[in-house]
Amino acid sequence: MADLMALAEEIVDGSVEVIDMTAPLHANTPILGLPPEFGQTASFELEEISKYDDRGPMWYWNNFRTGEHTGTHFDAPNHWVSGKGLDDVSQVPVRRLIGPAAVIDKTAEVQENPDFCLDIDDIKAWESENGPLPAHGWLIFRTGWSSRGDDPEAFDNADDEGPHTPGATPAAAKYLSEETDILGWGVETVGTDAGGAMNFDQPFPCHSMFMGANKYGLTQLRNADRLPTRGAVIIAAPLPIVTGSGSPCRVIALVDRS
Ligand code: MN
Repeated sequence: MADLMALAEEIVDGSVEVIDMTAPLHANTPILGLPPEFGQTASFELEEISKYDDRGPMWYWNNFRTGEHTGTHFDAPNHWVSGKGLDDVSQVPVRRLIGPAAVIDKTAEVQENPDFCLDIDDIKAWESENGPLPAHGWLIFRTGWSSRGDDPEAFDNADDEGPHTPGATPAAAKYLSEETDILGWGVETVGTDAGGAMNFDQPFPCHSMFMGANKYGLTQLRNADRLPTRGAVIIAAPLPIVTGSGSPCRVIALVDRS
């Protein structure tokens, strides 16, 4: 029998640590910029309604405006044309938001080469060391990129050729989407694909293959370095925006410290 009361006690006494993998949401939270011919996502904006003043003497509250894909967020299958007709963010079953984490650490490689792409051999090497990727689990691509998260320019890391940020090769995306039972792939960067992925032989392979396989994406994760290689549990909590393609998302990891 599941012992949920024991889990609750372990959270209180700290033997299970609760780690926030979410970036703070504010006007300078980095967002994806597309080439100018495409529609653009909005930055996060707060509009004050009242703050204990004439407009509302006892209460403080705001309206906000933002893109669905702002900050730490969840990509639903219908985000991509390959997943057209699959679940919108409100339709994703909540039991598919929670799962064991597997962490692949390529921080050193990304420090050498910001365009580093995880390849199929990296995943197979990880599996031969750590066992198969967990069924119904989240694969977390640890790159150290979140250390740039408070500096939009460094986070974007663009030059004349466009952004230089890490991702996965088409072969790796195909393997993960077709040969594994993971729920999805979580990254520290602005999107689930590499900065240069528009120009890959197969453009945007992570978006295209994960969404098409009814899997999910999590982006702009923080604190991936505080997770063990295996054994953490991740809870992703996007808002149920009816018909939405994604949502800013609180991502929480539970880690055994006993
Ligand atoms: Mn997205």
